[in-house]
Amino acid sequence: MVNATEPPYISALPKVELHVHLETSLRLRRLLQRCDPDLPLCGQPHNVADPSLFTGYDRLRRLRYAERANRLPDAAYTRANIAAITAELIAEASDQSVRHVEVRAGGQRAFSILGVRGMLDAMAEGAGEARRLGLSYGTVVTVIRERGPEEAGRIIAEAVAASGCAVVGVDLAGDEENYPAGLFSAPIARARDAGLGITVHAGEFAGPAGVWAAVYQLGATRIGHGIRAVEDPVLLDRLRERGVALEICPTSNVRLGLVSTMSAHPVGKFLNQGVPVTINSDDPVLLGTTLTGELASVARAHCLGPEILANLQVTAARAAFLPAAGRKSLEQAVVSQTCRGERR
Ligand SMILES: [Zn+2]
Repeated sequence: MVNATEPPYISALPKVELHVHLETSLRLRRLLQRCDPDLPLCGQPHNVADPSLFTGYDRLRRLRYAERANRLPDAAYTRANIAAITAELIAEASDQSVRHVEVRAGGQRAFSILGVRGMLDAMAEGAGEARRLGLSYGTVVTVIRERGPEEAGRIIAEAVAASGCAVVGVDLAGDEENYPAGLFSAPIARARDAGLGITVHAGEFAGPAGVWAAVYQLGATRIGHGIRAVEDPVLLDRLRERGVALEICPTSNVRLGLVSTMSAHPVGKFLNQGVPVTINSDDPVLLGTTLTGELASVARAHCLGPEILANLQVTAARAAFLPAAGRKSLEQAVVSQTCRGERR
């Protein structure tokens, strides 16, 4: 995926992507329309409030809703189609020199039509593409706060039981203001006890308290976004000491109105404070992002040189939801491929 505004060394840099949603309905729509541009999609256009009038989670909800204004037919949610969009996401990652990708499955409609196990099986089938292209892969199962701890518990139980589906972690996402992390202690503990990695969307739409809760009540080793941790110097110390990695998704934060510009993003402050930082694309179809583009934007806005960009990939390799030996070999692969690239 070559873009004229992205320096070639960033395109070629071996990368690790930890925070990317499958965006099931958006990718399915693209897949179906590519096969048949005249395909009528069922449902009525909805009146959708202008997302630019909102900020934060409200804007995200409206953006997603606007994108889905014409509902896909249930028949679009087949195992073959889910496998195809998963494989497509992996191929896009491979084109950007990604060596390890963790893909989030959270489409509630897909879970209800295919069943949790059916969805995870379908994604695992699509993940065969990763083996073919030589990158490592894991599925992270997203549970949504506003759907409550009971549903989270049910989905996590099925994810834990889904052996052979490459499930490596659980992600808590959604309305962090009204559904605090503590509500989900029991289901998340179940995932943790089963050896799954824990990541929590926090410090994005609400303040640093949500990041404290994610780390100390849920045992999260990674935080989705976490940008508002910057408001609490003691929290920054704790994140650094515990090695909790922030999954920073810069364009997402700007597009949702959480920071005014890329230059105003606190990513530079996190790096200066020694907090583990990773850069990610979040919702590529919705936001028009790529991992290469995110790294290029951050590098430009915060004057980050090649060495720092390479270090970000090492940090991501260390934070990957892989067994210790897998993390080590991913880190070694990222370092050696970066060095080989520099020698060319
Ligand atoms: Zn996200």
